[in-house]
Amino acid sequence: MTDANETGTLTCDVAIVGAGPTGMTIAHLLGQAGVRTILIERNATTVTQPRAVSIDDEALRTMQAIDLADEVIADVMLDYGSNYFTRHGVCFAKVEPVTREYGYPRRNAFTQPKLEATLRDALARYPHVTTLFEHDCEVVEEDAEGVTLVLRADGAERRVRAAYVVGSDGARSNLRRVIGANLVGSTYKQRWLIVDLASTQERFRQTRVMCDPARPFITLPGPGGIRRYEFMLHENENEEAASTPEFARELLAAAGPDADSPVVRRQVYTFHARKADKWNSPRVFLAGDAAHLSPPFAGQGMNSGIRDAHNLAWKLAAVVKGRMGPRLLDTYERERAPHAWALIELAMTMGRIMMPKSNRQAALMQNAFRAASLVPPVQAYFAQMKYKPKPYYEEGFLAGDGGLATAGRMLSQPWLERRDRSRIRLDEAVGHGFALVAIGPGSQALAAQTDVEAIGLGPVTRIAVVPQKITLVPREDEDVIAGRDLDNLFGPLLAKAENMLVLLRPDRYVAVALRMTPAQTPGSFVEIAKRLVSTTQL
Ligand SMILES: Cc1cc2nc3c(=O)[nH]c(=O)nc-3n(C[C@H](O)[C@H](O)[C@H](O)COP(=O)(O)OP(=O)(O)OC[C@H]3O[C@@H](n4cnc5c(N)ncnc54)[C@H](O)[C@@H]3O)c2cc1C
Repeated sequence: MTDANETGTLTCDVAIVGAGPTGMTIAHLLGQAGVRTILIERNATTVTQPRAVSIDDEALRTMQAIDLADEVIADVMLDYGSNYFTRHGVCFAKVEPVTREYGYPRRNAFTQPKLEATLRDALARYPHVTTLFEHDCEVVEEDAEGVTLVLRADGAERRVRAAYVVGSDGARSNLRRVIGANLVGSTYKQRWLIVDLASTQERFRQTRVMCDPARPFITLPGPGGIRRYEFMLHENENEEAASTPEFARELLAAAGPDADSPVVRRQVYTFHARKADKWNSPRVFLAGDAAHLSPPFAGQGMNSGIRDAHNLAWKLAAVVKGRMGPRLLDTYERERAPHAWALIELAMTMGRIMMPKSNRQAALMQNAFRAASLVPPVQAYFAQMKYKPKPYYEEGFLAGDGGLATAGRMLSQPWLERRDRSRIRLDEAVGHGFALVAIGPGSQALAAQTDVEAIGLGPVTRIAVVPQKITLVPREDEDVIAGRDLDNLFGPLLAKAENMLVLLRPDRYVAVALRMTPAQTPGSFVEIAKRLVSTTQL
């Protein structure tokens, strides 16, 4: 259902250009928030060729937020690690995380075409989200009140008028050019050959990373018995020669048992480590590959785009619905750009480990890893992926919490046990909007006493979480959902404070956190939250 004005121009609150994983996730989140949205895509359908292969726990949590976790996970191989090998085939580092801090395994194999198809089909749930496939966005004109888009569809011109526009139009983004942004960073001089197989003879369950200076390569398992190989190419191997079936067969034969496995795709790629130097004009916002490009060594390009989507969508919804002021949108780049860049830097570091320049450099680095793995905390640091930048914003829509460093973090997601012994995940209790999460033995009373309506955010769900060790879960009333932290994920927080109050944003990040000392009351918490909300007004 789309509105059109007297000139036939389609009108909406938010138009999204580009139906990749980033744009479609934003469309879901806006649809859920009741925002009139138009999603524009130049292709007839979503991608059919394999691209990203690794989806992380944070992205799965966003799929949970758009009520698609089960559908997405049906096509995912959950929970696999990666092992790093010397040129002699000796494993020198293992990354096999077992933690579930955000509710899901940290590394999971998926296929982008299946994820995109799931996202696309499920958009039909929202009558106020219109999808325009086979529409190329050619012109973008921004003025003080909104943005006009000129689209080309089957030779004819159509116009869309929106209050805000999201440019999730990929690596070659036209909207990036329109807002006058440039990509900064670098491009890798090495090219890589990607070979996707329909089935595999390789029985190794983890990602195998061969850090052989002569020919680094990676092989990753996928759902349904598929497999990907990524081989670094040498400078003298030109793209034409490297693209032949014979060349791929030769590399597969040297790599292991997949010499004769069925190949579905071969493609030569050059990788980039870049980000836009500006992420928005007043009314046009870049997201996903349009805003940042990561080499694939950390498997984070799409995952970063999904983080952008969750961050930007609730802010756009709050502003177009008039619940918060437009200054809220200024926090988007401030929060997202440093984090996206931290993950690009991680990918570059992993690239250096995978692509040692000489046998001597490889031996030095690999021996250092092996020695370090004898020290248990260092071993755990790698195995549990503690090197991955935390989902944490140092500044933005958040209020400091006296050194606790909880504000700005993605809140852990434990299973909660309710008084009737039923179990619920934290985010199921939270729902889709803001939530007050009281944590600690006194959480039930604190949640009940906090006047969340006074914060001015509209409805806020109240949740009380008691520590794992407390066996008697408080009785619930109609205003407060109560549960016991079955996984003890809030244990580390409670080591610093007996009770805490947290204002949780719709993207599961902490906006306000307050340690409840005798000097602090629920009233002081509400005052901090009100001050934060007032900063979004012009
Ligand atoms: C080989 C390879 C391996 C990768 N592995 C991983 C991985 O393991 N994990 C991971 O997280 N990421 C990985 N990535 C990165 C990931 O694929 C991308 O980051 C992701 O697809 C970006 O999503 P997006 O929605 O931002 O952009 P895209 O998926 O590029 O979507 C942009 C869309 O915009 C449309 N569009 C563009 N211009 C217009 C226009 N003018 N009008 C209308 N529509 C337009 C395009 O047709 C396209 O559908 C990998 C990438 C490659 C190439």
